[in-house]
Amino acid sequence: MKSTVMVLAVTSALGVPSAHLLGQPPADTTPHAQAPMAAEPPVAAANRAVLSELPFSDRQDFEDANRGFIATTVNPANPDPYNFLQQDAPSTVNPSLWRQAQLDAISGLFKVVEGVYQVRDFSVSSMTIVEGNTGIIVIDTLATPGAAREALDLYFAHRPRKPVVAVIYTHSHPDHFGGASGVVSPADAAAGKTKIIAPAGFMDAVALDAIAPSNLGARRGQYQFGFPLELGERGNVDYGEGKNESRGTPGPGPILPPNDTIQQPMETRTIDGVKFIFELALDSEAPAEMLIYLPQSHVLDVAEDATHTLHNLVPLRGALVRDANRWSQSLNLALDRFGPDVQVMIDQHQWPVWGNERVRARLANQRDLYKYVHDQTIRMMNQGLGPAEIAEALTLPPGLDKEWYARGYYGNIAQDSKAVYQRYMGWYDGNPATLNRLPRVEEARKYVEYMGGSAAVIARARRDFKAGNYRWVAEVMDEVVFAEPSNHEARGLAADAFEQLGYLAESAPWRNSYLLGAQELRRRDRAGTGSVPGIGAAVLHVMPIGEVFDYLGTRLDGPRSGTAASVINWRFSDTQESLASTLEHGALTAIPGKTSPAAAATVTTTRTAFESLILEKRTLADELAQREIVISGDAKAVSDLWALLVDFKTGFPLAEP
Ligand SMILES: [Zn+2]
Repeated sequence: MKSTVMVLAVTSALGVPSAHLLGQPPADTTPHAQAPMAAEPPVAAANRAVLSELPFSDRQDFEDANRGFIATTVNPANPDPYNFLQQDAPSTVNPSLWRQAQLDAISGLFKVVEGVYQVRDFSVSSMTIVEGNTGIIVIDTLATPGAAREALDLYFAHRPRKPVVAVIYTHSHPDHFGGASGVVSPADAAAGKTKIIAPAGFMDAVALDAIAPSNLGARRGQYQFGFPLELGERGNVDYGEGKNESRGTPGPGPILPPNDTIQQPMETRTIDGVKFIFELALDSEAPAEMLIYLPQSHVLDVAEDATHTLHNLVPLRGALVRDANRWSQSLNLALDRFGPDVQVMIDQHQWPVWGNERVRARLANQRDLYKYVHDQTIRMMNQGLGPAEIAEALTLPPGLDKEWYARGYYGNIAQDSKAVYQRYMGWYDGNPATLNRLPRVEEARKYVEYMGGSAAVIARARRDFKAGNYRWVAEVMDEVVFAEPSNHEARGLAADAFEQLGYLAESAPWRNSYLLGAQELRRRDRAGTGSVPGIGAAVLHVMPIGEVFDYLGTRLDGPRSGTAASVINWRFSDTQESLASTLEHGALTAIPGKTSPAAAATVTTTRTAFESLILEKRTLADELAQREIVISGDAKAVSDLWALLVDFKTGFPLAEP
């Protein structure tokens, strides 16, 4: 969506020139307000206009989201946090997003078809349960063990209590496997007694997501999901394809790695009497992802490749750019292979689609959606347009713009086109003026100086705010905030512009980002102010030792290491792993599975002790004293290396310097 364009269109359609708006008494626009403010008149008008632009009388999704409902349970800690969604869309929420938020709040146990059930909205994602001859097969285990246990308890309260004979992970995102220990015992999984099936490359993809973006991804995730925002019509309503919360006892569990992976493009397995056809969809919504067809019940599980939204080609939290072309191809293959036979399409976040014709149309349309974004971005970039110009020009494909599931609740057409550009062309737009720009603060100070100082910029920006030019106000006030971070008026006006943009946004991550930016600028407090090692205990525990050293290399303070150089051998007695690490030129490299005769020292320890050290639960001195770490040779080389590792600060600024 092009927010300002829409506002201006609506403003002119209503015949309200901006000069007239300027003459009106000011709304509640106190620049120092701490609490969220009302929607400005152009925003309220733009949101009202959405009601006639989109087919709100089409209630099929509500019918589908409620179909097969069996029961739900109330979370005693928080009985009805989304009760506020019962009313009509308020002026502070885009009605299209409001509708999605209502649908995503429909919660409980649902029968999809005979033998296939889903628990939806008990966590960030959904659980699918397939009934076998002697037990059940669980597809995706939600974000946390507590949520998974509650989901399974709800199922068992209404269906025969049978053992979990297999778990399937559709893909490598933690909201789909994090709760595994809530449905199977880790010992049974490790022994292979319970099958855990995942797509090829699953564990590498899990580690990839955990290493590089670790701390920044978590901070940006606060913006994408809007965790620190209050729920409500001026706050968080949804994250785009569900709610942030997980039921049950909070907290993560261990990662249970798969003991069986799907390697072929199509593989058929019979599990407990049920036939499963797995279609690998690698490099689609996740690096390791697969679709699942159940021919006996004619159910196609599209994992997260065709949910009720245009999805992300790169999420705002940050990730490697996804391959829209392969994504489209995977959906096309599913349509070709299963299209003639399929009766129901399910996904792992939202509600099913019933009927062969509707499922085929949905697959074909989602296939076209990703292909269109991919190909049209490339067409325009080859015609010489830059990323911002392409994002501005690109709209949803002809004929799909009024389809609810094509709209950008989680991904967004502008954001996705920029992702395609970045995937193929990188950060540079080819204009030498952008090749080596000044850093943000320096640039902002010069701009504000050239523009006649902050007071002059703010005065003009206020007029643009009144005229509804929120995108521009956010952009220009960002210069003032970066030049003068303690300028209250600038912070307030920047926050006000963010907030109106949030109220206009159809994309939940855009809304959450704008509203959290506004909140942080106004309140001057940010969630989290600690220092962390920047990796989760669960993922660290399952990473092979080579990947652990890849991660440690990203914590090394290169400049501070100066000319330090050392080769160290590492032996882990519990996992039988070994590795030779080399520090040289500020770079930590390693060869797993080897030790070096030239090493200055050999460290003998366990993974348990090493992980405690990395997670800073124990110090090197402590572990040496307890002989949990034993060093032969030059012990100082080891302590020197360890002293070069830095912590990461949480809660660092994003919307200000
Ligand atoms: Zn997911």
